[in-house]
Amino acid sequence: MTSRRDEIAIIGAGLAGSLAACFLARRGYPVVLYERRPDPRAGTAERGRSINLALSERGLDALRRVGLDEQVMADALPMRGRMIHPVEGEPQFQSYSAAGDRAINSISRGALNNALLDAAAALPGVRVVFDHRLVGLDPTNGSLTFETPQGQVAAKASVVLGADGAGSAVRGQLLADGLLTENVDLLDYGYKELTLPPLGGDFALDPDALHIWPRGTSMMIALPNPDRSFTCTLFWPNEGTGSFAALDNPAAIEHYFARHYPDVVPLAPNLVDDYENNPVGVLGTVHCAPWQVNGTVGLLGDAAHAIVPFYGQGANCAFEDVVELDRCLDECADEWSEALPLYQQRRQENAEAIATMALTNFVEMRDKVASPVFQLSRRVEHA
Ligand code: FAD
Repeated sequence: MTSRRDEIAIIGAGLAGSLAACFLARRGYPVVLYERRPDPRAGTAERGRSINLALSERGLDALRRVGLDEQVMADALPMRGRMIHPVEGEPQFQSYSAAGDRAINSISRGALNNALLDAAAALPGVRVVFDHRLVGLDPTNGSLTFETPQGQVAAKASVVLGADGAGSAVRGQLLADGLLTENVDLLDYGYKELTLPPLGGDFALDPDALHIWPRGTSMMIALPNPDRSFTCTLFWPNEGTGSFAALDNPAAIEHYFARHYPDVVPLAPNLVDDYENNPVGVLGTVHCAPWQVNGTVGLLGDAAHAIVPFYGQGANCAFEDVVELDRCLDECADEWSEALPLYQQRRQENAEAIATMALTNFVEMRDKVASPVFQLSRRVEHA
């Protein structure tokens, strides 16, 4: 039986890992948080990977439990509905609630991660180790091997939690050992970020909305940032007409945007530079089972169930995992061999459901939100 004196290793100091460190330290466990990257609080974000998240009540609930909600919400921008941008004509606002009183919150993933890291590192019993990439795990005894700038480093823990994202090394090791099966469905679409800087010192678009440019088989969205810029994300096919690869020179980029996103062109002075230099990110869904082995190795967040971002729920879902694990530990009196299977049992079905909804919402966002039938049905719904 794991006691509260036994060390927990969390692999990945992203959103799920940092939050899990806060919850477990509060339970009295010594926690080591291992992160492959250098400390993100000391450097600048990777180009084109700023990602602003839509944080909803599901995620906020978790932050409230560790006293971080007010700090995080101080920099959040509430978005009360969708603003649909047709190719021609005026944008149309669709409220998220009939009374207009409900919102999802635009928040920087980097700032959220830094706030969680600060909170975790400030708790007694938490050690955060950067520049440690997990390259080996023995699930039978919790032996860990890390690649560091100084060479390989060994460590050991009573419980190992893989919070190391969609390409999880923990999941990969369990798969290699025949302890887990996985199915990774990559989407035929990628994503690329563009920036709309402030215009005359103010937001270039209405900051109270999540902006969508539905274009049938592809789309662009934009979320506001506290510095009055907008981060746009293009979700385009990887191949064929209208794909990222199809636009391979400045004239082609400018021509395509003038034709399909005409209202954006005057607001995006760095369009060509952003387009040519920002990376194309991969999108996909991870299904795997089980999410835990022997009650000593478990998976959290994207490592267990990465989803496509169209429902804005990946991070919210990762936070819910952490809350549920904490609840299971309460109910199982910290007996991890009972708590981890119970956590999987309660979360897996929900994660599968949101994964399906996220894929369905891609079709709605890129296509149906612009259709007159959809808009009429929403008006009836809200009448
Ligand atoms: P991650 O955030 O990926 O963190 C994993 C951490 O593990 C990273 O710090 C990584 O460096 C580290 N790591 C990886 N491998 C190793 C290793 N071998 N050793 C040590 N460390 C390792 N979610 C929402 O809720 N709302 C949104 O609006 C939203 N929009 C999104 C838009 C886009 C374009 C994308 C791509 C995602 C979006 N998401 C959104 C999803 C959200 O970003 C993820 O679900 C969330 O970041 C998952 O958190 P995580 O901690 O599980 O994984």
